Amino acid sequence: MDARLEAIRGTVLARNPGEGEFHQAVTEVFESLGPVHDRHPEFLEGAVLERLCEPERQIIFRVPWTDDAGRVQINRGFRVEFNSALGPYKGGLRFHPSVYLGIVKFLGFEQIFKNALTGMPIGGGKGGSDFDPRGRSDAEVMRFCQSFMTELYRHIGEYTDVPAGDIGVGGREIGYLFGQYKRITNRYESGVLTGKGISWGGSLVRPEATGYGTVIFTEEMLKTRGKSFDGQRVVVSGTGNVAINAIAKAQSLGAIVVACSDSSGYIVDDAGIDVALLRQVKEVERGRLKDYETRRPAVTYVDGGSVWDVDATVALPCATQNELDGDAAARLVRNGLIAVGEGANMPSTRDAVAVFQDSGVLFGPGKAANAGGVATSALEMQQNASRDSWTFAHTEQRLTEIMVGIHDRCAATADEYGDPGNYVLGANIGGFVKVADAMLAQGLI
Ligand code: NDP
Repeated sequence: MDARLEAIRGTVLARNPGEGEFHQAVTEVFESLGPVHDRHPEFLEGAVLERLCEPERQIIFRVPWTDDAGRVQINRGFRVEFNSALGPYKGGLRFHPSVYLGIVKFLGFEQIFKNALTGMPIGGGKGGSDFDPRGRSDAEVMRFCQSFMTELYRHIGEYTDVPAGDIGVGGREIGYLFGQYKRITNRYESGVLTGKGISWGGSLVRPEATGYGTVIFTEEMLKTRGKSFDGQRVVVSGTGNVAINAIAKAQSLGAIVVACSDSSGYIVDDAGIDVALLRQVKEVERGRLKDYETRRPAVTYVDGGSVWDVDATVALPCATQNELDGDAAARLVRNGLIAVGEGANMPSTRDAVAVFQDSGVLFGPGKAANAGGVATSALEMQQNASRDSWTFAHTEQRLTEIMVGIHDRCAATADEYGDPGNYVLGANIGGFVKVADAMLAQGLI
């Protein structure tokens, strides 16, 4: 790493102790930015990186609620409003027991660059709670969401900060959060949250957007080598919103998706995953992946273990951070992997990324490859602002154009900086320069 940036990185790490995921995200971005600072000394003079690594605002709050047995439960809520140079803070809420400040900051930091890459007017933020919706009744989830929003409402707004979903936060949770926001503020402010239901301000394609977008980005990478998804053997991790829609889109392009996972295990279905059955099990019944195996013959369910043990030509990690390590990456490469598109945020460890890049595997980092979700959230905001609702076909067309645009910008930036095909470099520099220019233009704030 460039020595000037290494010194700044050291200060950032020391100021934010114990936040390993945030350190990892910062390090990964800094490693790309040396050449930019050679060309733009004004970024160093204006202390852009130091400012960028310090969130504009961080909110941590108590979330009290009662469970179905009448017991009082306490969770911790977070919203990190990281950077508003390009627009209102924008980024999802994650409800998962692993959530703490370091996770929210890593996600918020990544979000700044991702949102810049979309070309839409949105800043970066992220939030969530250590609440675990799994195994909770609808009534418990509703009471939790109402309590969470009772604090969060004063910090958000369509021109201020616009949360959305992430792990553990889907349409059900967004509905309860929106209802409570409306009740407290007495405003039907559609643009305050995205991922809403279609009948009350949501956008068609938003549920599919992250998974579809990841596949579209990966298809663009494959095209640079004269290939496509057609006939590829694909492994996807996760079976949540991103994973299921990535599976559906990859199969629509002729791929065979042979395996997917949840946090308990994985299935191998050599005939190709039955997406309708998977949606029934995971989205309608909120069941476990094991339930899929019991309804489909010739499927193997592996309890525990790693889905990355299954051979693939294309890997789409769509579950969570650091789920694919260097050993798994090396095994995948040995077994014929040609491309990786990150549907999740930072799912590959730094070792894994190095293995992919050193082996010439096409590697699309999450901040570029999974930007279709937030881009479609921005399309939802556009529809809300104009009191309009677009067709599925039109919205999907916009998503496709945006993803192709992100791919091409990353590729062109990598070329410009002398490292063709390095999408990590292209995404980091492309996102950073846009935000840095805006920060300098807006003065020392
Ligand atoms: P969901 O909650 O819908 O699904 C998450 C999936 O990942 C589930 O299958 C879950 O398994 C699995 N998972 C979660 N945590 C772990 C863990 N610690 N270990 C193993 N498996 C785990 O979330 P999303 O699909 O929305 O999000 C998935 C990823 O995509 C995240 O990294 C998120 O930040 C990223 N992302 C999401 C966007 C969106 O629009 N939703 C936008 C951009 C990125 P189980 O069911 O067993 O819990």
